[in-house]
Amino acid sequence: MTSLAELPIRDNLRGLTPYGAPQKRVRVALNVNENTHPIPEAVAHDIVTSLAAAILGINRYPDREFTTLRESLAAYAGHGTTRENIWAANGSNEVLQHILQAFGGPGRKVLGFPPTYSMHSIIAASTHTEWVTGERAADYDISPEAAIAAIEEHKPDVIFFCAPNNPTGTPMALETITAAYDATDGIVVVDEAYAEFAPTGEPTALTLLAGRPRLIISRTMSKAFAFAGARVGYLVADPAVTDAMRLVRLPYHLSALTQAAAIAALAHTGEMLSMVDDIKAQRDRLLVELPKLGYTVWPSSANFVLFGGVASPHGVFEALLERDIIIRDLGIPHHLRVTAGTEEETTLFLEALAEVGGAVSSID
Ligand SMILES: *Cc1c(COP(=O)(O)O)cnc(C)c1O
Repeated sequence: MTSLAELPIRDNLRGLTPYGAPQKRVRVALNVNENTHPIPEAVAHDIVTSLAAAILGINRYPDREFTTLRESLAAYAGHGTTRENIWAANGSNEVLQHILQAFGGPGRKVLGFPPTYSMHSIIAASTHTEWVTGERAADYDISPEAAIAAIEEHKPDVIFFCAPNNPTGTPMALETITAAYDATDGIVVVDEAYAEFAPTGEPTALTLLAGRPRLIISRTMSKAFAFAGARVGYLVADPAVTDAMRLVRLPYHLSALTQAAAIAALAHTGEMLSMVDDIKAQRDRLLVELPKLGYTVWPSSANFVLFGGVASPHGVFEALLERDIIIRDLGIPHHLRVTAGTEEETTLFLEALAEVGGAVSSID
């Protein structure tokens, strides 16, 4: 047994820590923005039937081009998208990794705007792409001017936006995306992991794709689709981008079982997404109830809420954990993040938080 530091590991990985959201068995898990509703049983049966059929052919490699899955995802994405515009992988994390394998790498830079999704900088490190950062305003917004200033300062090869942003919930104006696109010759990625939770009718960055071959929208089935365990993410972009992805993916990266499960789930999109309105209602409830307990909340277009005014985030996190409830401490001073769960889970969280106390304003 030796230590990691003694191995001849790449210099840019020395001293890093891996992605580490705690995984604990608790009654109420509101820490990683999963959809906490199980998928409908009728859909589950259909998925099992598809898996059973796929198993009978499991001696063969799967369709390397996952053609049917790309067709299903294109139909879901809409906006004139065809299968030529779609790439998929084992979670959108792997999609983002493919993007940086193709467009980032040693000697190249990726620009992000913290606080943002922690995997963006971790994938930068694992692909040996330099992570450079731009500034958000005090309300976590990114103005077109701030995006342009960061692009002029760093001259990045790739830009990662997160819309809405995790962990703050902040929606993104399409003007910032188009301004950034016009200010760079690089790739602009919009991570829309939470797009389905946006207010009804709010335009997605998918509406910007026509005529912008360097724009990539990444999406996932992990959140709204309640499919986190299946590991299916995808991107929508110009077909040339998907050709770049083919250069870096491992052959047959999407297993026949993954493809079968995702195709079956997408055939039931309406039922799979039936809980999204409920979850949005619980998010809106958190936005109303947390201030009554003395906390501040940040507007959220996602399935979670970042709240501030917490005297001791670590103390509140531990006190909730003692009550079998886990939320997320992201190291933002005086802040915690909570996922909108079922009505019952949200109630249990709010009741426990009221008991635990710990809001700065209620202490003052
Ligand atoms: C949860 C999340 C993802 C999803 O990752 P998967 O690998 O698809 O499970 C991607 N981006 C952001 C910002 C997220 O919060």
